[in-house]
Amino acid sequence: MIVALAGGVGGAKLADGLYRTLPAGQLRVVVNTADDLDLFGLRICPDVDTVMYTLAGLANPETGWGIAGDTFEALAMLSRYERDVWFKVGDRDFATHIARTDRLRAGLSLTAVTSELCRALGIQAEILPMADEPIATRLLTGAGSLEFQDYFVRRHHEDLVIGVEFHGIAAARPTSAVQNAVSRAEAIIFCPSNPIVSIGPILAVPGLRDLLIQRAVPKVGVSPIVGGRALRGPADRMLGSLGHEISAYGVAKLYQGILDGFVIDEADARLAGRIESLGMHVLVTPTIMTTTGDRADLAMRVLDFCTQLRQESSSRL
Ligand code: GDP
Ligand code: CA
Repeated sequence: MIVALAGGVGGAKLADGLYRTLPAGQLRVVVNTADDLDLFGLRICPDVDTVMYTLAGLANPETGWGIAGDTFEALAMLSRYERDVWFKVGDRDFATHIARTDRLRAGLSLTAVTSELCRALGIQAEILPMADEPIATRLLTGAGSLEFQDYFVRRHHEDLVIGVEFHGIAAARPTSAVQNAVSRAEAIIFCPSNPIVSIGPILAVPGLRDLLIQRAVPKVGVSPIVGGRALRGPADRMLGSLGHEISAYGVAKLYQGILDGFVIDEADARLAGRIESLGMHVLVTPTIMTTTGDRADLAMRVLDFCTQLRQESSSRL
């Protein structure tokens, strides 16, 4: 069984490749919940939903988020009622949030609700929210402290980020489902997600980083920064404004002491030596996933890399 850590769009692509490569039931994805929000009285979990829709084959290929072919009638009606509609929720997507909120109000944990939704969508992998407690990312910017979706969606992640806070994280604990997954994983894979606001909150759940460090299995990350740039979103600018190097090396450095392998793009081959000096093995390979075939190809190479690291560590014993 393999555990992957993921945020939304970038993470979901590799998670999908792993899902299509591994035997059914052999993948558990621990997903960021610090982007979650309440809107129109509904609980929305954007990263969990992106991974869920992607694995279910429902994701909108153009946006990466939302459901392919969804309509926006409910949102248009809400707009007539003069509700703010900058956060786009499609009609089918609304049903997910209604079902989730209904079950949360009935007293189920987010982990249990997510499991129900995944089962209903026929997903043969476990999608595990990083925590059941509500956690909310806030970004300190030149324009003041912003809620995550305000920064990301409404203001198009244009503000300079000078600080990041995960509200509620001190009271959170790794769920028993996450603990169980990590303790049984044969390899742990950090998907190419934003290291600050997607993987960052997962690692900030008290106790989770130590659980990962304690596992003597291959732990491998894939860089979301390719050729010094994020393929989409603000990861590159965020790294820079928070004082990190804007490169695959800058990402690897954030994972130093946790990961023993890092996968970088061919465009970044010259960084391999510096990343190895952080105590990581490096795989240089194409990492841009344009087609679904690319996802499975990269997943296979990442899994082979894990096998290679496992063999090297057992031959050292
Ligand atoms: P979000 O929650 O929707 O912002 O998604 P994530 O945090 O999971 O992923 C965002 C990151 O994914 C960005 O930094 C992108 O550079 C990265 N990304 C997106 N597509 C790819 C890809 O095909 N290959 C790699 N290596 N990174 C990608
Ligand atoms: Ca996200």
